[in-house]
Amino acid sequence: MFEQLIRTCIRELHPYSSARDEFSGQASVYLDANENPFNSPYNRYPDPLAHSLKEEIASVKGIAPTKIFTGNGSDEAIDLIIRIFCEPGKDEVLSYSPTYGMYQVCAAINNVKYTAVPLGQGFLPDAQELLGMAGPASRVVFICSPNNPTSNSFPRESILQILDHFPGIVVIDEAYIDFSSNPGFLDALERYPRLVILQTLSKAWGLAGIRLGMAFAHEEIISWMNRVKYPYNVNVLTQQMALNVLPDRDRKEKWIREILAGREFLLNQLPAFPMVEKIFPSDANFLLVRFRDARKVFHYLMDIGIIVRDRSSVPSCEGCLRITVGKPQENEALLHALKEYAEAE
Ligand SMILES: *Cc1c(COP(=O)(O)O)cnc(C)c1O
Repeated sequence: MFEQLIRTCIRELHPYSSARDEFSGQASVYLDANENPFNSPYNRYPDPLAHSLKEEIASVKGIAPTKIFTGNGSDEAIDLIIRIFCEPGKDEVLSYSPTYGMYQVCAAINNVKYTAVPLGQGFLPDAQELLGMAGPASRVVFICSPNNPTSNSFPRESILQILDHFPGIVVIDEAYIDFSSNPGFLDALERYPRLVILQTLSKAWGLAGIRLGMAFAHEEIISWMNRVKYPYNVNVLTQQMALNVLPDRDRKEKWIREILAGREFLLNQLPAFPMVEKIFPSDANFLLVRFRDARKVFHYLMDIGIIVRDRSSVPSCEGCLRITVGKPQENEALLHALKEYAEAE
């Protein structure tokens, strides 16, 4: 079904077959992979397809393991999708701006044209405009919802319009979906075979350090991703840690509740400061805030050890800082620092 969307060199690829691809059962003596026999269990290569981990993710998400790809962060999935579907020097990726920078960087690294449609009022997407930009070379659309750095979710209707009418691959990056009041698009996978959903353990699950990203899609797309990825892309430590943590959903839900309460708290407190000009509505674990003299505020905070993200040079985010919601005492520290800044002004 996807043949005509896949680059010719990928379609014709004879993928590397590792020792663990060729024998994946249980044995008592492993003499096939040139591993060191000592230092168990780290002497062994990981399961190339992370079967046990996918079983666990499947039970958390209610998606069949054959429809799950696991990678070294969602960044790996972004790069793979561009490499599988976009011919360098010929094809094109579409997205909105401002959005997550990796889509453009991965496109550039692969010499693939990147076209971004500016978001409109309230950082809302115009699906019609994006569809109007799409030509025969437009192979992939990246939609980030909730969107980084604007923090809002896109209306379901706009995303559905793109899913209904764009003839290529539609990627919805749901890195922040756990903080959102919207349900996300996992339940649309059956209806839209060219939909790829990206999620990650880096945000709500508190595991940015282990690098585990997930893609959910039609099993044929997943199988192309598995053919192109590095053979052992998710290491033993990461698979083990994710397996240990995923069953503890209560802990994750508790963190989410605390972070959402922190977001609410900041949302209530920040407008009192004279240099705060606007706080954009957030459906994520961060706030985009426009300040008078944003750079000055940024450096003031940095000098006392509070680091926020300076987005003031991003078109349409002029004067804005992106503030991640922290622990209660970290949010208090931020407010305290802003109070001192305001008093000194
Ligand atoms: C943080 C983030 C990710 C996560 O990337 P990982 O490589 O999984 O850590 C993906 N997309 C967006 C939009 C993000 O902000």
